[in-house]
Amino acid sequence: MLGAGFAGLSCASLLAKNGFDVTLIDKHSQAGGRCRAIEEQGFLFDLGPSWYWMPDVFERFYNQFGYTTKDLYDLKHLNPSYQVIFEDETIGIPSDFEELKKVFEQHEKGSSKQLEKFIDDAKYKYEKGMSKLVYKPSLSLLEYLDVNLLKDFFQLDLFSSISSSIKKYFKNPKLIELLEFPVLFLGAKPNQTPALYSLMNYADIKLGTWYPIGGMSEVSNAFRKIAEEQGVKIHLGENVLKIESQDDKVKRVVTNKNEYNDFDYVISAMDYHHTESILSNQKTKNYSESYWKKRKLAPSCFLYYLGVDKKLKNLEHHNLFFDADFSLHSEEIYDTKKLPSKPLFYVCAPSVTDNKVAPEGKENIFILIPIATGINETDEDRDKYLNDVLERLENKTQQKIKEHIIYKKSFATRDFISEYNSYQGNAYGLANTLNQTAILKPRIKNNKLKNLFYCGQMSVPGPGVPPSIISGEIVANYINNQK
Ligand SMILES: Cc1cc2nc3c(=O)[nH]c(=O)nc-3n(C[C@H](O)[C@H](O)[C@H](O)COP(=O)(O)OP(=O)(O)OC[C@H]3O[C@@H](n4cnc5c(N)ncnc54)[C@H](O)[C@@H]3O)c2cc1C
Repeated sequence: MLGAGFAGLSCASLLAKNGFDVTLIDKHSQAGGRCRAIEEQGFLFDLGPSWYWMPDVFERFYNQFGYTTKDLYDLKHLNPSYQVIFEDETIGIPSDFEELKKVFEQHEKGSSKQLEKFIDDAKYKYEKGMSKLVYKPSLSLLEYLDVNLLKDFFQLDLFSSISSSIKKYFKNPKLIELLEFPVLFLGAKPNQTPALYSLMNYADIKLGTWYPIGGMSEVSNAFRKIAEEQGVKIHLGENVLKIESQDDKVKRVVTNKNEYNDFDYVISAMDYHHTESILSNQKTKNYSESYWKKRKLAPSCFLYYLGVDKKLKNLEHHNLFFDADFSLHSEEIYDTKKLPSKPLFYVCAPSVTDNKVAPEGKENIFILIPIATGINETDEDRDKYLNDVLERLENKTQQKIKEHIIYKKSFATRDFISEYNSYQGNAYGLANTLNQTAILKPRIKNNKLKNLFYCGQMSVPGPGVPPSIISGEIVANYINNQK
């Protein structure tokens, strides 16, 4: 098993549980992939994911090993779930649905009833999607040829966009932006994302936003613990250099420390494009460079980890700065592919909830600015954007922040490439557009090498922590069923 992110850990644990002898290799010294953490000057910074959504997916995974979530970490339900800072007002999103309906009604008369209908539809999609679609290996259309599922297809709204679907229910531009926000997790513009993905609105509004005390790396630690308990041998700090094949099988995996040749299967949970680039026989690749060039990638981003020497006011745990033009920013990410003129950005302040992640009286701040993939960003760009967003942050929250920063680290496209071998520096894989959904995603199975499989955020079902967990499970089930 290559790559110890959530997909690799999930797949390895489930295979080991089913009797396979599994070795899991990763270049980093910590497991968790994009969900690792660094500790600096008493601040504990999560490097990647910060939104814990779809708690049912984590719970389902843990249950297979005799655990429930609360055996592994302390999960807190956030209220407000998050706040959205517009140019002229800040809207807190209450975790309670009745309270949220009041917020909607204040902005558009009749919208609370519309929200009920919208969420009923989103719930239907979530439940059907989770029970009938996402756990499929998507190797053939035949998997979807079931009469009941075909009936559902029409109600699942695969062929209209989420943007047009939301506009059928709501007119107020702020409510529309609020409901389009979860789509950002899926990596494409709302008008290119199937309406099926309003299931994310159900995840947001009804299932809630959660936070594991101690930070997201608690989740990686839980996954690592489970893998080790199942007997997975985890080799960290080991870089995979080559995947060598002979005829129709992988015969040898070469790392900077070892050579492995005694295996039945090789499963890569590393970046899909990277995996194929290190195949010794390039004719065995599933996909050509021109295929990858045509893919719609999820964005890259500028990330900043900041330690602040005082507590900040007017910030919640999750803060979305929508005080700029959403459509211009998304055009710059996906179409014109240039650095943004005035980006939307996201600020996470986990120390608002959790005193374990910052020294007493100090604040732990993580800033994310989505940008296009494939941009050669420079140190000057990083400084300029940090400066710009800090000014906006200071203005909107009415306090001095810059002069209180005592720790600063940035991470962007170049680092995604060097740290994760990430294609074009994408932050979280391939976007969930219609022609990159289900059987149209990169396949979990190599077409020419019988014992080579792929999982992770670039394959089915898609980007994000819960889908990556599911992806590992799909491949493990597929292989377990071959036994
Ligand atoms: C900044 C950021 C914020 C995010 N926010 C959220 C969020 O709030 N909520 C959410 O659900 N999702 C979020 N995501 C997405 C989520 O983190 C990912 O989709 C998910 O973690 C991917 O898991 P994975 O196992 O597929 O890949 P990865 O976590 O990337 O794991 C792949 C592993 O392969 C290793 N690897 C690569 N090449 C080699 C090699 N040659 N040799 C050895 N090892 C190698 C890498 O080091 C890595 O550990 C975010 C992602 C980022 C980057």
